[in-house]
Amino acid sequence: MTPNKEDYLKELYKLGGSEHLVSNKELSQKLKIAPASVSEMLTKLSQESLLITEPYKGAKLTKEGIGIAISLLRGHRLWEVFLIRHLGYSWSEAHEDAELLEHVSPVRLTGRLERFLNYPAYCPHGNAIPDQNGQIKEGELVLLSTLAAGTTAIIKKVQEEKELLDYLQTQGIEIGSQITVLAVDDYEGPFTLVLGDKTIQISHKAACQIYVSTNE
Ligand SMILES: [Zn+2]
Repeated sequence: MTPNKEDYLKELYKLGGSEHLVSNKELSQKLKIAPASVSEMLTKLSQESLLITEPYKGAKLTKEGIGIAISLLRGHRLWEVFLIRHLGYSWSEAHEDAELLEHVSPVRLTGRLERFLNYPAYCPHGNAIPDQNGQIKEGELVLLSTLAAGTTAIIKKVQEEKELLDYLQTQGIEIGSQITVLAVDDYEGPFTLVLGDKTIQISHKAACQIYVSTNE
């Protein structure tokens, strides 16, 4: 299977395509690919029994499609742990190279990698790593952008997007960091946060891509 096809299965899975239909529009926005090309590829993948499509409603993964998506995600997230822990990669560098490695990692390799890393539960960006059976354990998270001033929370997960990852790492934000919201500016203005012994500001846009837990 080509990396391109695999990316479709992975994105569908991330959008909930193992449980419900995902619209072509949503998928095309996420993959940044024209709707016509998306429809064409979905037809191909359905002919290979990796997903089912319903006219005007979207696509849903089959059991086989789910299996491939899970193995890609496992590979991606385990490689990220390895690259950061052992090769000194930055947040965004790890994501970038994991995008390549996930497509060339057979089940045996990811299994050994997982054992070598001592079965990490999360990738460095806070995304849960599915186990061999595809089970994922994820706590209840809320978006940082929904917090009111005065709230204290723990950073749990961030979206894997290069610019965002570089921005957050420069600000000193890490998974597991405790933050307190000092102020929220009006009209989608910045969030002022206390992080350790310093005060930082992050944009509203970034706050919409950071997941936190408030009940610890
Ligand atoms: Zn990650």
